Amino acid sequence: MKSSVTSLHLLDGGLLEVESSFVVPGSDFGRRVAVPIQMFLVGTSAGYVLVDTGNDPGVITDPVGTWGAALATAARPLMEPHHHPAEQLRLLGLAPRDVKAVVYTHLHHDHAGGGRIFPDAVHVVQRAEHRWALSPDGHAGKAYVPADFTTTRWTLADGDWHMLPGIQLVMTPGHTPGHQSVVLWDVPDLGNVVLAGDAINTAACIEKDLPPGITTDSVTAVQSMHRLTALAAATDALLVTGHDLALFEALPKAPEPLRKVGHRPARHHAPMLDLAAGA
Ligand SMILES: [Zn+2]
Repeated sequence: MKSSVTSLHLLDGGLLEVESSFVVPGSDFGRRVAVPIQMFLVGTSAGYVLVDTGNDPGVITDPVGTWGAALATAARPLMEPHHHPAEQLRLLGLAPRDVKAVVYTHLHHDHAGGGRIFPDAVHVVQRAEHRWALSPDGHAGKAYVPADFTTTRWTLADGDWHMLPGIQLVMTPGHTPGHQSVVLWDVPDLGNVVLAGDAINTAACIEKDLPPGITTDSVTAVQSMHRLTALAAATDALLVTGHDLALFEALPKAPEPLRKVGHRPARHHAPMLDLAAGA
């Protein structure tokens, strides 16, 4: 089936300052690091699809009022007016009404905060994520802001879904129970792309074989990472991890289309078996 994907742009949602070990577990305890907030605008022959929506834009002026002091301190947003999704779309001559569908990798505050900017779009998340976000176990609740998702009219996916020609949703649980990644086939001038979301935080997670610093199931999270690295290696895809500042800085951002430039991709760790070495 021919891909319906016609373009791909990386939108800049600003930065989030967090404890380093949230990103790569066991690394630099007590050190704060800035990580990028990414959104992806996928052009298709049926209209635009947005992947993730960043922070609630209320944090541009009032982080504590929007998120509460505990979350706004643990994850300090560095979001300026031009990081508002509507402003990012304006760089491309577009407006929120041009977005026909919004896909969420998961419903954490730094991915689902801008959903209400798109009242006319179809909003897609995994059912397992929606269930969990509405009633997370106590330890996992801090990263969800119910106002981000309780009034949204959802289209719920149950596992892998061929959403549109050239756009596949792939279940990658572990960071959260219903996390999904988005695979794009045959993007013009780019080829195949795996948008990992927070199934893989940074290249360091791949290189050190580590799950995200925040997980609900670390074993499953590592298996999800391996699924994505194997898929990317097998299809020669650009693998875009969720919160890698070096990669984010290297990739062209809107209004430039996303291209492979200037960044050595993370090793995919495939194949891992050296048959030449013998038994
Ligand atoms: Zn995130």
